[in-house]
Amino acid sequence: MSHQTQVVVIGGGQAGLAAGYHLRRLGLDFIILDAQTTPGGAWQHAWDSLRLFSPAAYSSLPGRLMPPQSGETYPDVQHVVEYLADYEKRYELPVERPVRVLGVHRDGQLLRVETDSGTWHARAAISATGSWWRPFLPAISSHAAFGGRQLHTVEYRSPADFAGQRVIVVGGGNSGAQIASDLAYDTRLTWVTQRPTRFLADDIDGRALFDAATARRRALDEGRTDTGGVASLGDIVAVPPVREARDCGLLKATPMFTRLLPEGVEWADGTRAGADTIIWCTGFRPALSHLAPLQLRGARGRITTAGTRALDEPRLHMLGYGDWTGPASATLIGVGRPARDAAREIAALLR
Ligand code: FAD
Repeated sequence: MSHQTQVVVIGGGQAGLAAGYHLRRLGLDFIILDAQTTPGGAWQHAWDSLRLFSPAAYSSLPGRLMPPQSGETYPDVQHVVEYLADYEKRYELPVERPVRVLGVHRDGQLLRVETDSGTWHARAAISATGSWWRPFLPAISSHAAFGGRQLHTVEYRSPADFAGQRVIVVGGGNSGAQIASDLAYDTRLTWVTQRPTRFLADDIDGRALFDAATARRRALDEGRTDTGGVASLGDIVAVPPVREARDCGLLKATPMFTRLLPEGVEWADGTRAGADTIIWCTGFRPALSHLAPLQLRGARGRITTAGTRALDEPRLHMLGYGDWTGPASATLIGVGRPARDAAREIAALLR
């Protein structure tokens, strides 16, 4: 089946919804195509104990503040999923589910969006597919020697699944620190990080991170010295569970091992540790395979953008993903502004 609209938004997580909010305000005709069966994007798949690193009011999309969660300063993922489901209903955003976009193609004056349930022709597109769907694993994880279980952040749910086990958590970012904290009490935990751990000051939460990302963007735009942004503050937000495990002395990181063995891992000096499970909290890459037909990737595998607009395809905008599409645009509070800019640029293009 073939459909026509002015703008196709690919992805119905928070970034796609923020785009929809602004497209609607500008009176554009659009559709949001989302591969999930229910609202909430990646938040539906996060581990049970995950909490936002900012209070609700600082985790809001344009137009509607996230309501506080009763009894919690930092809302849990279920609260975020409910907020996103309510948001798309409240603004009557036209989300089609489940529809997976397979490829975006140039088709004369239009973009042709091929999906697993039909084709859409549009004058512009916004790609908002996030990163959760493309977990990154370092090369060492594929060396087949290890006889235990290996999983990535995206497969982790709860410490109950690993009670009493020897677990190695790899990764010195927020996912690694939070999952290590989660496991610190009920498993025999080894937490491994490539670099020495860098905790942000205890009073820094998502608000300060957003300010730091914005200040950096402003400095770069005005040709001033790079402030270093969020990375200059540290790698790990000291959310309450992380602080608690760290302060109990349960969160001490070990340097990265160099080899997998059938029964565990080995460090460069020959030290060994046995393990039943290794959890790779080694990050994500933007999920962009649907854009391959447009051939936009530059030498370093990146799609070059000016703001959110793809430089080599001005009908395409990229939203969410990371700071390269707007300061803190991969966060709830940060995606609103780039979503507004993308919608305005598209409205100008279609005029
Ligand atoms: P997603 O939520 O991933 O949504 C993308 C949607 O696009 C999904 O529904 C997906 O199914 C769909 N999709 C993908 N490919 C296709 C396709 N080809 N066709 C159709 N649909 C497709 N941010 C905060 O603000 N506060 C926090 O506390 C916070 N904590 C985080 C903790 C973790 C562990 C992680 C990983 C991230 C955290 N973030 C946080 C960052 C960010 O808010 C989330 O990653 C968020 O899910 C990003 O939203 P998104 O809309 O960009 O992507």
